[in-house]
Amino acid sequence: MTRLVGGAHSDVGRVRSVNQDAALASSRLRLFAVADGMGGHRGGEVASALALEALTAGTDAALDTVDTLVDLVLDANDRILDQARRDPDLFGMGTTLCAIALVRGDDDAELGAERVAIVNVGDSRVYLLAHGALQQLTEDHSLVQDMVRDGQLTAEEAAVHPRRNILTRALGIEPEVDVDWWERPARLTDRYLLCSDGLFNEVSEDRIAAVLRQVADPEAAAKELVGLANARGGRDNITCIVVDVVGDAGPEIPADPGPTAARRLEADLAAAEPVPPPEPRPRRVTFRVLGFLVLLGTLAAVTVFVIRTFADRTYFVAAGDDRVAVYQGRPGGILWFDPRVVETLPLQLTALTAAQREQLATGYETSSRDDARRWAVSQLSPVTTTTTTPLPSTTTTVSTTTAPPTSLPPTSIATTTATTAAAPPPEGPAVTTADGGG
Ligand code: MG
Repeated sequence: MTRLVGGAHSDVGRVRSVNQDAALASSRLRLFAVADGMGGHRGGEVASALALEALTAGTDAALDTVDTLVDLVLDANDRILDQARRDPDLFGMGTTLCAIALVRGDDDAELGAERVAIVNVGDSRVYLLAHGALQQLTEDHSLVQDMVRDGQLTAEEAAVHPRRNILTRALGIEPEVDVDWWERPARLTDRYLLCSDGLFNEVSEDRIAAVLRQVADPEAAAKELVGLANARGGRDNITCIVVDVVGDAGPEIPADPGPTAARRLEADLAAAEPVPPPEPRPRRVTFRVLGFLVLLGTLAAVTVFVIRTFADRTYFVAAGDDRVAVYQGRPGGILWFDPRVVETLPLQLTALTAAQREQLATGYETSSRDDARRWAVSQLSPVTTTTTTPLPSTTTTVSTTTAPPTSLPPTSIATTTATTAAAPPPEGPAVTTADGGG
C-alpha cells in the first residue's frame, strides 16, 4: 500500500512581525496543505488557521475521493465568511489554500486505484518533482498570471511585477468559489512540494529543484528551502511542505544519501524525460452547484410562464397593415414575446378621422378580445354625423375618400378665416357638410 511521508517548515521571514501562513502535514490522514492568510490585524492568521481546521474537521479517516477534498475546501470558504461576518475585526480576511491528499479513486486503469488529489485556490503552489524534473502543477489565481495568460506579460516579468500579490481568487471573499482540482497516479518516488509565495518569490525554481533533488529527508528539505528564502531577503512569511510518495517498504529515496547515492540520483535526474504539465480539470460541479442550477432553471421557467400568461391575457386595438386590428399581448411586447394580430377588422385606416386616429394611437387595452373588437367597432367605424341644424340638406355622410370640401388652394387658407376654421387638416376629415360648415 502507498503512503505519503512529509515534513513541513514555516517561518515568519525577516520583515514581517506575524506569520499568517499555516501548514498541515498529516501522514495519518494522508493530507498536506499550505494556507497563506491575508487581511489586516489578526485576520490573515485566523483565515489560514480556519482553512486548515476545516480540512481536518469531522474526519479521522483518510479521504475517499477528490470530491471530498473539494467539498472540504468549500466548507473552509463558508467557515471563513461566517467568522468574518460575526467579528468586525476579521472583516475582509481571506486565505489561499493548496492541498494534496492520497485518495482511493474509482476504477480507472490510467490513474490506478490510489491517486494523489490536488486542490488549489489562490497563489500558493503545488510542485511535482518526478524523475528529477520540477513542474508547477497548480496555476496561480493572480492578476499577473491572468496577464501572462493573455500575453501581456512574460513569466519572467510576472515574477518581479509590483502587483504580483494581487489575487483573483481566495477563500473567504465570496460565498461561491471555484476550486481547481487534479488527480494524478500515486507514483512511488514522486515528490511533491507545497509552498507559499514567500518561497518562490525569493528562490528560483532551479534552486528549489536542486534542493528537492539533493536533500532526501522531507523535513530537512523543507527547512533548507525556508532558509534559502530567508537568505534572499525573507520579505514574506515562508512555508514549505515536502511530501514523498512511498511504498510499504519505506521511503524510496535513501534517508541519508551518501555521495554515491546522491550522484546516482543526479544521474537519474539527468536521464529523466520532462513531464508535460497537466491541464487543470474543468470546473467541478458539486451537488450544491447542481442543486443551485436546477433551482435557477425552475425559477426561470416559472418566470417565463408567468410573463407569457400575463401577456396573453391582454388584448389591444392598434393599426394593422392597412386596417384596424386586434392584438394579443402587451403593446410594445414584453421580453421576447411580441404582440400578435388575432383579428383584422374591416375598418380601413385611411377611413379614420383625425380624432379616430388619435384615439387609435392612444390605444385601448382590455382582457377580452370581444371587448377589444366592440370598442374598435364603436369608436373607429366610419362616422355618421347627424347635425342639429334643422336643414335636412346639411346632413350627409361622406367617406374619407371624398374630395376635399373646400376648393380653396392651400395658400389661401390663412387668409380666409371663416373657411379655414372649418377646414380639415391636410389628411382630410371623414365628415363635412355641403356648405363647408360643421
Ligand atoms: Mg505570502
